[in-house]
Amino acid sequence: MSVLSNETRVKILADLIEIQSINEKELDVAHYLQKLFEQYGIHSEILKLDGETSRANLVAEVGNGKPVVGVSGHMDVVTTGDTDQWNYDPFKLTEDDQGRLHGRGSADMKSGLAALAISLIEIQAAGTLNQGTIRFMATAGEEVTSNGAALLHEKGYMDDVEALLIAEPSQDGIVYTHKGTMDIQVTSKGKSAHSSMPELGFNAINPLVDFIHYLNVEYSKVDVSSELLGTPTMNSTIINGGDQVNSIPEYAESLFNMRTIPAFDNKKFEALFNSIKEKVEKDDNGSITVNPYVNRDPVYTTGDNAFLKLAKSLGDEYFNRDLDVTSSTATTDASYLMKDKGDDFSFVMYGPGETGQAHQVDEYVYKDTYLTFIDLYTQMLPQYLNDFK
Ligand SMILES: [Zn+2]
Repeated sequence: MSVLSNETRVKILADLIEIQSINEKELDVAHYLQKLFEQYGIHSEILKLDGETSRANLVAEVGNGKPVVGVSGHMDVVTTGDTDQWNYDPFKLTEDDQGRLHGRGSADMKSGLAALAISLIEIQAAGTLNQGTIRFMATAGEEVTSNGAALLHEKGYMDDVEALLIAEPSQDGIVYTHKGTMDIQVTSKGKSAHSSMPELGFNAINPLVDFIHYLNVEYSKVDVSSELLGTPTMNSTIINGGDQVNSIPEYAESLFNMRTIPAFDNKKFEALFNSIKEKVEKDDNGSITVNPYVNRDPVYTTGDNAFLKLAKSLGDEYFNRDLDVTSSTATTDASYLMKDKGDDFSFVMYGPGETGQAHQVDEYVYKDTYLTFIDLYTQMLPQYLNDFK
């Protein structure tokens, strides 16, 4: 017998959607979940992010000792964009006549987060866990830098974890490997002067233009790809510099976004950028800084493990289909949570919602899918741990 009715399960999702945790206020989500867990005798702890008042992770556990399975979801959502484009109030969960629940975060990923939390409550109440621990880790900041996940990794919450499930929207395919991301800011410092006397200044734009040019030339020689993840990508996406047409600019910057793979990972990109910096500083006498301000590693596993097999067999059974087992170009908190884990680590990203619904206008998840995932997790997690040898 379930403890929470379907009505309550949907209400919990609706409550979470109402908390407007757009790149902040994860603490409000954490407090909500903490109170929910408390009602069912599950202790949890709030971990504040350094120097932040409204941002925190939440960790809760069910069971005892080893082995440990980690389950994780992020509590932040992305902005709504232009709300005039929405046919529904983004922060009021609304069901349409096709059984879809609309709201910001309905797919990415408050439905996955709620499904994990509810499954913990159901598992605890049913007493189906015979050995081991399920560690629930709700994170802050996934949509920007994964700083919440970075904190969990740093504090050792992943050290004893044997298998990790992230409930990001991926109902149509179980993901076990994904690309990394990296954002690098390159700045060029000069000295301002009137443009009639440029010799008194130093134009910051010129070294930056050289930097971008040399970088593109060097990167065009990179010839790597992965069967699962394809090629890495690198793009200059923002450029700024100067503020007046008759002044020599003292500052210019460009931002770059990279998608990384193990064969050309974040460290290789950073080394490439630093080698170009050296060249430009030598040739142009410029002053360049390279600042990798978002740095999320690619996640690579072989996918050959019992955790993934169980997820696949239960997914096939619960949804009556033959699920894809696949890779993703998107990045998750696993970039930090799985730092130091090898290729043979058991990682599964599998959760309610279509991948393509993430960050969309009128974002939705099917109510049935959300409810089915709760039952799936409620069976999967104890089954994996009970069978673990
Ligand atoms: Zn997400």
